[in-house]
Amino acid sequence: MPPVKRRVLILHTGGTLGMRPRTADQALAPDEFGSAILESVPELAEIAEIDARVLCNLDSCDVTPAHWESFAREIAGAVDGWNGIVVTHGTDAMAYTASALSFLLRNLPKPVILTGAQRPLADPRSDGRANLVGAVDLATRPIPEVGIYFDGHLLRGNRTTKRSTFAFAAYRSPNFPPLAEIGTGVRMLSEPLRPRGPLAIEGRFDARVAAVRLLPGQPAEPLCCLAQSGVGAVLVQAFGVGNVPVVDRGVARAIATLVEAGIVVAIGSQSLHGLVDLTHYAGGRLAREVGAVGTGDMTTEAAAVKLMYLLGTCGGPAEVRERLLTPIAGEVTPA
Ligand code: ASP
Repeated sequence: MPPVKRRVLILHTGGTLGMRPRTADQALAPDEFGSAILESVPELAEIAEIDARVLCNLDSCDVTPAHWESFAREIAGAVDGWNGIVVTHGTDAMAYTASALSFLLRNLPKPVILTGAQRPLADPRSDGRANLVGAVDLATRPIPEVGIYFDGHLLRGNRTTKRSTFAFAAYRSPNFPPLAEIGTGVRMLSEPLRPRGPLAIEGRFDARVAAVRLLPGQPAEPLCCLAQSGVGAVLVQAFGVGNVPVVDRGVARAIATLVEAGIVVAIGSQSLHGLVDLTHYAGGRLAREVGAVGTGDMTTEAAAVKLMYLLGTCGGPAEVRERLLTPIAGEVTPA
Protein backbone atom coordinates (compact mmCIF):
# COMPACT_ATOMS: atom_id res chain seq x y z
CA MET A 1 0.00 0.00 0.00
CA PRO A 2 1.41 3.47 -0.85
CA PRO A 3 2.12 5.62 2.24
CA VAL A 4 -0.71 7.96 3.26
CA LYS A 5 0.09 11.46 2.04
CA ARG A 6 0.28 14.08 4.78
CA ARG A 7 -1.84 17.21 4.36
CA VAL A 8 -0.68 20.74 5.19
CA LEU A 9 -2.70 23.93 4.90
CA ILE A 10 -0.78 27.15 4.19
CA LEU A 11 -2.52 30.33 5.37
CA HIS A 12 -0.92 33.44 3.89
CA THR A 13 -1.17 36.72 5.79
CA GLY A 14 1.44 38.87 4.00
CA GLY A 15 5.03 40.01 4.34
CA THR A 16 8.09 39.92 2.11
CA LEU A 17 7.75 36.22 1.23
CA GLY A 18 4.75 36.88 -1.02
CA MET A 19 6.06 40.06 -2.61
CA ARG A 20 7.33 40.55 -6.11
CA PRO A 21 11.13 40.74 -6.25
CA ARG A 22 12.74 44.18 -6.42
CA THR A 23 9.43 45.96 -5.76
CA ALA A 24 9.29 45.16 -2.10
CA ASP A 25 6.01 47.00 -1.61
CA GLN A 26 4.05 45.18 -4.29
CA ALA A 27 2.29 42.09 -3.07
CA LEU A 28 1.13 39.19 -5.23
CA ALA A 29 -2.64 39.19 -5.76
CA PRO A 30 -4.53 36.71 -3.54
CA ASP A 31 -5.47 34.44 -6.45
CA GLU A 32 -1.83 34.32 -7.60
CA PHE A 33 -0.44 33.18 -4.29
CA GLY A 34 -1.44 29.50 -4.17
CA SER A 35 -0.08 28.70 -7.63
CA ALA A 36 2.97 30.98 -7.12
CA ILE A 37 3.90 29.02 -4.00
CA LEU A 38 3.73 25.65 -5.73
CA GLU A 39 5.47 26.97 -8.86
CA SER A 40 8.30 28.50 -6.82
CA VAL A 41 8.61 25.58 -4.41
CA PRO A 42 7.36 22.49 -6.28
CA GLU A 43 9.05 20.18 -3.77
CA LEU A 44 6.37 21.12 -1.22
CA ALA A 45 4.02 18.77 -3.09
CA GLU A 46 6.45 15.91 -2.44
CA ILE A 47 6.31 16.48 1.32
CA ALA A 48 2.56 16.89 1.64
CA GLU A 49 -0.66 17.56 -0.13
CA ILE A 50 -0.86 21.34 0.03
CA ASP A 51 -3.68 23.84 -0.05
CA ALA A 52 -2.86 27.55 0.21
CA ARG A 53 -5.35 30.25 1.19
CA VAL A 54 -4.80 33.98 1.45
CA LEU A 55 -6.26 35.46 4.65
CA CYS A 56 -4.86 38.93 4.02
CA ASN A 57 -1.83 40.50 2.43
CA LEU A 58 -0.39 42.87 4.99
CA ASP A 59 2.96 44.14 6.03
CA SER A 60 3.13 42.63 9.50
CA CYS A 61 3.32 46.03 11.20
CA ASP A 62 -0.34 46.42 10.16
CA VAL A 63 -1.42 43.17 11.79
CA THR A 64 -3.56 43.98 14.84
CA PRO A 65 -5.20 42.03 17.68
CA ALA A 66 -8.36 41.81 15.55
CA HIS A 67 -6.30 39.93 12.92
CA TRP A 68 -4.87 37.62 15.61
CA GLU A 69 -8.41 36.72 16.65
CA SER A 70 -9.50 36.06 13.08
CA PHE A 71 -6.36 34.00 12.30
CA ALA A 72 -7.10 31.90 15.40
CA ARG A 73 -10.68 31.32 14.23
CA GLU A 74 -9.44 30.25 10.77
CA ILE A 75 -6.92 27.85 12.30
CA ALA A 76 -9.39 26.38 14.80
CA GLY A 77 -11.97 25.93 12.03
CA ALA A 78 -9.53 24.19 9.69
CA VAL A 79 -7.31 22.17 11.99
CA ASP A 80 -9.27 18.90 11.85
CA GLY A 81 -8.72 18.34 8.14
CA TRP A 82 -4.93 18.75 8.14
CA ASN A 83 -1.82 17.29 9.74
CA GLY A 84 -0.64 20.82 10.44
CA ILE A 85 -0.93 24.44 9.43
CA VAL A 86 1.76 26.80 8.13
CA VAL A 87 1.09 30.52 8.51
CA THR A 88 3.18 32.69 6.19
CA HIS A 89 3.63 36.11 7.79
CA GLY A 90 5.79 39.22 7.62
CA THR A 91 8.91 38.86 9.69
CA ASP A 92 8.79 42.20 11.53
CA ALA A 93 5.90 41.45 13.86
CA MET A 94 5.78 37.66 13.53
CA ALA A 95 6.80 37.09 17.16
CA TYR A 96 3.77 39.11 18.37
CA THR A 97 1.35 37.08 16.22
CA ALA A 98 2.97 33.82 17.33
CA SER A 99 2.57 34.83 21.00
CA ALA A 100 -1.04 35.87 20.43
CA LEU A 101 -1.99 32.60 18.69
CA SER A 102 -0.32 30.59 21.45
CA PHE A 103 -2.48 32.33 24.08
CA LEU A 104 -5.75 32.08 22.14
CA LEU A 105 -5.49 28.50 20.85
CA ARG A 106 -5.77 26.33 23.95
CA ASN A 107 -5.02 22.61 23.70
CA LEU A 108 -3.76 22.87 20.16
CA PRO A 109 -3.73 19.32 18.75
CA LYS A 110 -1.55 20.01 15.65
CA PRO A 111 1.44 22.14 14.74
CA VAL A 112 0.89 25.75 13.69
CA ILE A 113 4.18 26.89 12.18
CA LEU A 114 4.76 30.53 11.27
CA THR A 115 7.37 31.35 8.68
CA GLY A 116 8.31 34.03 6.19
CA ALA A 117 11.31 35.38 4.35
CA GLN A 118 13.85 38.17 4.43
CA ARG A 119 13.79 38.18 0.59
CA PRO A 120 10.73 37.52 -1.63
CA LEU A 121 10.06 33.99 -2.79
CA ALA A 122 10.56 34.95 -6.41
CA ASP A 123 14.04 36.39 -5.71
CA PRO A 124 16.87 34.02 -6.77
CA ARG A 125 18.46 34.32 -3.32
CA SER A 126 15.23 34.00 -1.38
CA ASP A 127 15.39 32.30 2.01
CA GLY A 128 11.64 31.76 1.66
CA ARG A 129 11.91 28.48 -0.25
CA ALA A 130 13.98 26.70 2.42
CA ASN A 131 11.82 28.22 5.16
CA LEU A 132 8.64 26.95 3.50
CA VAL A 133 10.04 23.47 2.89
CA GLY A 134 11.16 23.20 6.53
CA ALA A 135 7.92 24.64 7.91
CA VAL A 136 5.76 22.29 5.83
CA ASP A 137 7.90 19.29 6.84
CA LEU A 138 7.62 20.22 10.53
CA ALA A 139 3.87 20.77 10.16
CA THR A 140 3.49 17.07 9.29
CA ARG A 141 5.06 16.03 12.61
CA PRO A 142 3.61 15.67 16.12
CA ILE A 143 4.65 19.09 17.44
CA PRO A 144 1.34 20.51 18.67
CA GLU A 145 2.25 24.09 19.39
CA VAL A 146 2.68 27.48 17.76
CA GLY A 147 6.24 27.70 16.46
CA ILE A 148 8.34 29.96 14.29
CA TYR A 149 10.52 28.16 11.75
CA PHE A 150 13.38 30.08 10.19
CA ASP A 151 16.79 29.18 8.86
CA GLY A 152 16.94 25.62 10.15
CA HIS A 153 15.43 26.18 13.61
CA LEU A 154 11.97 25.70 14.99
CA LEU A 155 11.49 28.01 17.97
CA ARG A 156 8.61 28.18 20.44
CA GLY A 157 6.69 31.11 18.95
CA ASN A 158 6.07 32.96 22.20
CA ARG A 159 9.76 32.70 23.17
CA THR A 160 10.96 34.26 19.95
CA THR A 161 12.26 37.71 19.05
CA LYS A 162 13.39 39.13 15.70
CA ARG A 163 17.10 39.69 16.09
CA SER A 164 18.23 40.72 12.60
CA THR A 165 16.90 42.68 9.64
CA PHE A 166 19.79 41.30 7.56
CA ALA A 167 20.66 37.71 8.48
CA PHE A 168 18.59 34.80 7.24
CA ALA A 169 18.76 33.58 10.84
CA ALA A 170 16.32 36.37 11.71
CA TYR A 171 15.04 35.03 15.03
CA ARG A 172 16.30 33.82 18.31
CA SER A 173 14.80 32.38 21.44
CA PRO A 174 16.94 33.89 24.18
CA ASN A 175 15.49 32.07 27.18
CA PHE A 176 14.26 28.75 25.83
CA PRO A 177 16.02 26.13 23.70
CA PRO A 178 14.87 25.55 20.10
CA LEU A 179 12.15 22.95 19.69
CA ALA A 180 13.79 21.36 16.68
CA GLU A 181 16.62 21.73 14.23
CA ILE A 182 16.69 20.77 10.56
CA GLY A 183 19.97 19.73 9.00
CA THR A 184 20.41 16.52 7.06
CA GLY A 185 17.53 15.28 9.17
CA VAL A 186 15.08 16.64 11.73
CA ARG A 187 16.26 16.63 15.34
CA MET A 188 13.91 17.39 18.24
CA LEU A 189 15.69 19.45 20.89
CA SER A 190 12.95 20.17 23.45
CA GLU A 191 9.77 18.49 24.56
CA PRO A 192 6.79 20.17 22.84
CA LEU A 193 3.63 21.18 24.67
CA ARG A 194 0.81 18.61 24.81
CA PRO A 195 -2.94 19.26 24.61
CA ARG A 196 -4.84 18.43 27.80
CA GLY A 197 -8.35 18.64 26.44
CA PRO A 198 -10.31 19.69 23.38
CA LEU A 199 -9.10 22.65 21.29
CA ALA A 200 -10.76 25.93 22.27
CA ILE A 201 -10.26 29.59 21.51
CA GLU A 202 -10.04 31.23 24.89
CA GLY A 203 -9.95 34.93 25.67
CA ARG A 204 -9.57 38.11 23.64
CA PHE A 205 -7.27 41.11 23.43
CA ASP A 206 -7.49 44.64 24.73
CA ALA A 207 -4.77 46.59 22.91
CA ARG A 208 -4.58 49.44 25.43
CA VAL A 209 -0.96 48.66 26.33
CA ALA A 210 1.94 51.12 26.05
CA ALA A 211 5.65 50.30 26.23
CA VAL A 212 8.29 52.70 27.55
CA ARG A 213 12.02 52.08 27.44
CA LEU A 214 13.88 53.83 30.27
CA LEU A 215 16.85 55.99 29.31
CA PRO A 216 19.56 57.33 31.62
CA GLY A 217 18.36 60.62 33.14
CA GLN A 218 15.02 60.42 31.35
CA PRO A 219 12.36 62.83 32.68
CA ALA A 220 9.48 61.09 34.43
CA GLU A 221 6.72 63.25 32.93
CA PRO A 222 6.10 61.21 29.73
CA LEU A 223 5.60 58.08 31.86
CA CYS A 224 3.37 60.00 34.29
CA CYS A 225 1.24 61.36 31.41
CA LEU A 226 0.17 57.81 30.59
CA ALA A 227 -2.07 57.95 33.69
CA GLN A 228 -4.49 60.14 31.70
CA SER A 229 -4.06 58.34 28.37
CA GLY A 230 -6.67 55.61 28.73
CA VAL A 231 -4.18 52.71 28.68
CA GLY A 232 -4.82 49.71 30.91
CA ALA A 233 -1.21 48.54 31.21
CA VAL A 234 2.30 49.91 30.74
CA LEU A 235 5.30 47.73 30.00
CA VAL A 236 8.38 49.52 31.35
CA GLN A 237 11.60 48.24 29.82
CA ALA A 238 13.85 48.89 32.78
CA PHE A 239 17.59 48.37 33.21
CA GLY A 240 19.19 44.95 33.75
CA VAL A 241 17.16 42.65 35.98
CA GLY A 242 14.38 45.25 36.20
CA ASN A 243 15.91 48.27 37.89
CA VAL A 244 14.62 51.84 37.91
CA PRO A 245 16.67 54.82 39.23
CA VAL A 246 16.76 55.17 43.03
CA VAL A 247 18.68 58.47 43.43
CA ASP A 248 16.14 60.43 41.39
CA ARG A 249 12.78 58.89 42.32
CA GLY A 250 10.81 60.53 39.52
CA VAL A 251 10.31 57.30 37.56
CA ALA A 252 9.26 55.42 40.71
CA ARG A 253 6.77 58.19 41.56
CA ALA A 254 5.41 58.02 38.01
CA ILE A 255 4.93 54.24 38.38
CA ALA A 256 3.10 54.84 41.68
CA THR A 257 0.82 57.37 39.94
CA LEU A 258 0.00 54.84 37.20
CA VAL A 259 -0.70 52.07 39.71
CA GLU A 260 -2.97 54.39 41.74
CA ALA A 261 -4.86 55.15 38.52
CA GLY A 262 -5.64 51.40 38.17
CA ILE A 263 -3.04 50.81 35.45
CA VAL A 264 -0.98 47.60 35.53
CA VAL A 265 2.73 48.43 35.42
CA ALA A 266 4.86 45.50 34.27
CA ILE A 267 8.64 45.66 34.41
CA GLY A 268 10.63 44.08 31.58
CA SER A 269 14.32 44.26 30.82
CA GLN A 270 16.33 45.92 28.08
CA SER A 271 18.55 42.82 28.07
CA LEU A 272 17.55 40.05 25.70
CA HIS A 273 18.74 37.12 27.77
CA GLY A 274 18.03 36.37 31.43
CA LEU A 275 15.16 37.28 33.68
CA VAL A 276 13.60 40.15 35.59
CA ASP A 277 14.12 39.84 39.34
CA LEU A 278 12.65 42.70 41.36
CA THR A 279 14.31 41.51 44.57
CA HIS A 280 17.92 41.68 43.45
CA TYR A 281 18.79 45.41 43.53
CA ALA A 282 17.36 48.46 45.27
CA GLY A 283 16.05 49.71 41.89
CA GLY A 284 13.94 46.57 41.40
CA ARG A 285 12.74 46.57 45.00
CA LEU A 286 11.65 50.20 44.63
CA ALA A 287 9.65 49.37 41.49
CA ARG A 288 7.96 46.54 43.38
CA GLU A 289 7.24 48.69 46.44
CA VAL A 290 5.36 51.20 44.29
CA GLY A 291 3.21 48.44 42.78
CA ALA A 292 4.97 47.20 39.64
CA VAL A 293 5.23 43.50 38.71
CA GLY A 294 8.09 41.75 36.88
CA THR A 295 7.76 39.83 33.62
CA GLY A 296 10.11 36.95 34.49
CA ASP A 297 11.97 35.62 31.45
CA MET A 298 9.34 36.56 28.87
CA THR A 299 10.40 38.31 25.69
CA THR A 300 9.16 41.87 25.25
CA GLU A 301 6.82 40.59 22.54
CA ALA A 302 5.31 37.85 24.71
CA ALA A 303 4.99 40.17 27.74
CA ALA A 304 3.26 42.91 25.71
CA VAL A 305 0.85 40.49 24.02
CA LYS A 306 0.15 38.75 27.33
CA LEU A 307 -0.72 42.10 28.92
CA MET A 308 -3.17 42.73 26.05
CA TYR A 309 -4.57 39.22 26.47
CA LEU A 310 -4.97 39.46 30.24
CA LEU A 311 -6.47 42.97 30.01
CA GLY A 312 -9.04 41.64 27.55
CA THR A 313 -9.74 38.48 29.51
CA CYS A 314 -9.41 39.18 33.26
CA GLY A 315 -11.77 40.93 35.68
CA GLY A 316 -9.44 43.82 36.63
CA PRO A 317 -5.86 44.94 37.29
CA ALA A 318 -5.37 42.73 40.36
CA GLU A 319 -6.13 39.61 38.33
CA VAL A 320 -3.90 40.77 35.45
CA ARG A 321 -1.00 41.23 37.90
CA GLU A 322 -1.67 37.87 39.51
CA ARG A 323 -1.76 35.93 36.20
CA LEU A 324 1.15 37.66 34.46
CA LEU A 325 3.74 35.11 35.57
CA THR A 326 1.51 32.04 35.25
CA PRO A 327 2.37 30.23 32.00
CA ILE A 328 -0.38 29.89 29.41
CA ALA A 329 1.59 28.18 26.64
CA GLY A 330 5.17 27.85 27.87
CA GLU A 331 5.96 31.56 27.40
CA VAL A 332 7.49 32.01 30.87
CA THR A 333 9.54 29.80 33.17
CA PRO A 334 7.61 29.38 36.44
CA ALA A 335 9.43 31.03 39.37
N1 ASP B 1 8.00 44.51 6.49
C1 ASP B 1 7.87 43.10 6.21
C2 ASP B 1 6.81 42.55 7.13
O1 ASP B 1 7.04 42.34 8.27
C3 ASP B 1 9.19 42.44 6.44
C4 ASP B 1 9.24 40.96 6.12
O2 ASP B 1 8.26 40.28 5.89
O3 ASP B 1 10.37 40.45 6.14
O4 ASP B 1 5.71 42.34 6.68
